[in-house]
Amino acid sequence: ATERKAVFLFFGGTGDLAYRKLYPSLFNLYRKGNLRSHFAVVGTSRQKMDNEKFREAIKKSLADSGNRTDSKEATDFVSHFYYQDHDVTDAAHYSVLKELIEKLDKKYKAEGHRIFYLSMAPQFFGTIAQDLKTQGLLSEGPDVFNRLVIEKPFGRDYDSAKQLNDALSQSFDENQIFRIDHYLGKEMIQNIEALRFGNTLVESLWNNRYIDNIQVTLSEKLGVEERANYYDNSGALRDMVQNHIMQIVSLLAMEQPVAFTDTDIRAEKVKALRSLRVYNVADAATNFVRGQYGAINDQADYRHEDNVPHDSTTETFVAGKLLFDNYRWSGTPFYIRTGKMLADKFTRVDVVFKRPLVDIFAFPQSKNTPLAANVLTIFVEPHAGFSLQLNAKTNDTGFSTEPIKLDYLVDAEKSKETPEPYERLLHDVLKGDGTNFSSWPEVSYAWKFVDQIRRVWDLQEPQFPNYTPHSMGPAAAEELIQRDHREWIYRL
Ligand code: NAD
Repeated sequence: ATERKAVFLFFGGTGDLAYRKLYPSLFNLYRKGNLRSHFAVVGTSRQKMDNEKFREAIKKSLADSGNRTDSKEATDFVSHFYYQDHDVTDAAHYSVLKELIEKLDKKYKAEGHRIFYLSMAPQFFGTIAQDLKTQGLLSEGPDVFNRLVIEKPFGRDYDSAKQLNDALSQSFDENQIFRIDHYLGKEMIQNIEALRFGNTLVESLWNNRYIDNIQVTLSEKLGVEERANYYDNSGALRDMVQNHIMQIVSLLAMEQPVAFTDTDIRAEKVKALRSLRVYNVADAATNFVRGQYGAINDQADYRHEDNVPHDSTTETFVAGKLLFDNYRWSGTPFYIRTGKMLADKFTRVDVVFKRPLVDIFAFPQSKNTPLAANVLTIFVEPHAGFSLQLNAKTNDTGFSTEPIKLDYLVDAEKSKETPEPYERLLHDVLKGDGTNFSSWPEVSYAWKFVDQIRRVWDLQEPQFPNYTPHSMGPAAAEELIQRDHREWIYRL
């Protein structure tokens, strides 16, 4: 592994995300040699704490994610961690951070490279970015890098996202900003490109002549849990569709990039999103459905979860139909759905091919059932893999066909070695590779699409609750696809 050099500054450095995901991911990069001796990590938050106590907390975070912490390796790793309390709204106090990171930069010979990770409430993103610049925390020099990593959510509609982006771009250029969408760090999402552009068999059929429809499902088994304060102000459309689903859809829909580089891939994703049809009021109302879960046994309905208002109209489920107005996809819809409190936890993409134009086995006396559609399924999680459904002859004396499956599942041993999304993404930030982050144009087109749905929904009081826990959502999600004489490939 190539050693990368940098001083990290984590805002929200005592937060849930930092302890649960970010520090363990850095440790994995350390064990693999991507980080060795030329790095330091500064955690900041309002809390008061000394370095020793912070390092204990880091050790605990490593232990909680299944690492041994009595090793020399773990001790050496945590010795690179420093803590500084800091209120991000106190502009004058940034000078303390500046002094600390400059000192650590010298001590660890990090060559002036800086990574600023904003892992806290998004209302602070703009202020922090501006103070980093005005208070002189960005390092200068021909060969140094300053990179800003931003957690989600990136705005709550196009206007607020634009405002945030304008604030960030006063201090950082687009190529210095890394907007996290952790779905893009998942192995099988990155595999979409390999599958498509590495296989003649796949890419030559990847269009509206051969594909009938594509289905993307991000299904969650749990309810809102402890996240109600955030979630009730967001809802499934903002929390899942605007970012993760739009990113997955754009990878499925884009044209072949000139080369496998962040610039080329982003350009194609943006082009795809530009040809996504933004719905008028009538089409938004027919092509999207929303849901909110009801009660079952001991499980309270959404409106009786902790911290949820009893009259909440927040959707915990979305299904929709997306249409691209371009030569490749015209006439081939993308159906998407996501929700909480559904039957199971999984993410998958089902690519449904057209049935053969002529079914020669369906002659008048034939008892053969009609040929099934070929379906290529990409299993993203919890198990990673592909499955291809084909028609084959049954092994009996007569002649009949049945659908069979070619399956490739990543085995348990290999999946254990698969890097966690945050490890991959932090590695990409260290390399300066923006492929698996959302660019501003992508974010803005996604918001414009989603805002239109929201606008229509806000005009009407929904009939909630409207789906049973552990189902696959409201009846309207079935009707949405049945109306087009199709059905969800994954069903109960
Ligand atoms: P958290 O509430 O656990 O942590 C917030 C951190 O910010 C704490 O360290 C807190 O001390 C600090 N903080 C708050 N106000 C401050 C101030 N004025 N000055 C300085 N520090 C202050 O939040 P989290 O769950 O770790 O989430 C962080 C970010 O990551 C959010 O943007 C969230 O949307 C995003 N995110 C979190 C998760 C997750 O699994 N937790 C997943 C995806 C995205």
